[in-house]
Amino acid sequence: MSAYKKVLVAVDLSNESSIVIKRALECVGNDTKTHLIYVQEPMDSVYMGVVPYGPVFVGMDEVEANLKKELRGKLASLGKEFGVADDDLHHLNGVPAREIHQFVDENNIDLVVIGTHGQKGVQLLLGSTANSVLHGCTCDVLAVRIKEE
Ligand code: AMP
Repeated sequence: MSAYKKVLVAVDLSNESSIVIKRALECVGNDTKTHLIYVQEPMDSVYMGVVPYGPVFVGMDEVEANLKKELRGKLASLGKEFGVADDDLHHLNGVPAREIHQFVDENNIDLVVIGTHGQKGVQLLLGSTANSVLHGCTCDVLAVRIKEE
């Protein structure tokens, strides 16, 4: 049995996501509902580049749609690998920390699990997703330390 009944694991879909999910599952009980969330940040709608014969404009809608499909597939494979039901996989758009905070409040989440590299120096000053999630979260937050190679 666990003190936590609704857990939200935030994943950036990098290889490190498995470490974060594994740790989360070790900390919860059989009676805990585990959700996975990935927040896709919007791309600029047009890319402008300069090639030798002048500027080029590339519409990003198609690029973004393809990326979305690929990322959705990655989230689905993580769900399959770790036994998280399709209904509990959430692929949202926006600013990660803001969407995670909103999801927590709307779904009565009692624990958020995130990865952290333990930022130092300039990185700490600039902030990170882990810091932004922690500050302003209305429930407990578990930061899983990702060890540098
Ligand atoms: P970062 O601060 O970017 O190194 O990310 C630290 C952790 O924040 C990741 O291990 C995830 O738990 C979470 N995270 C980062 N980006 C996202 C994202 N786009 N969607 C959901 N969670 C994220």
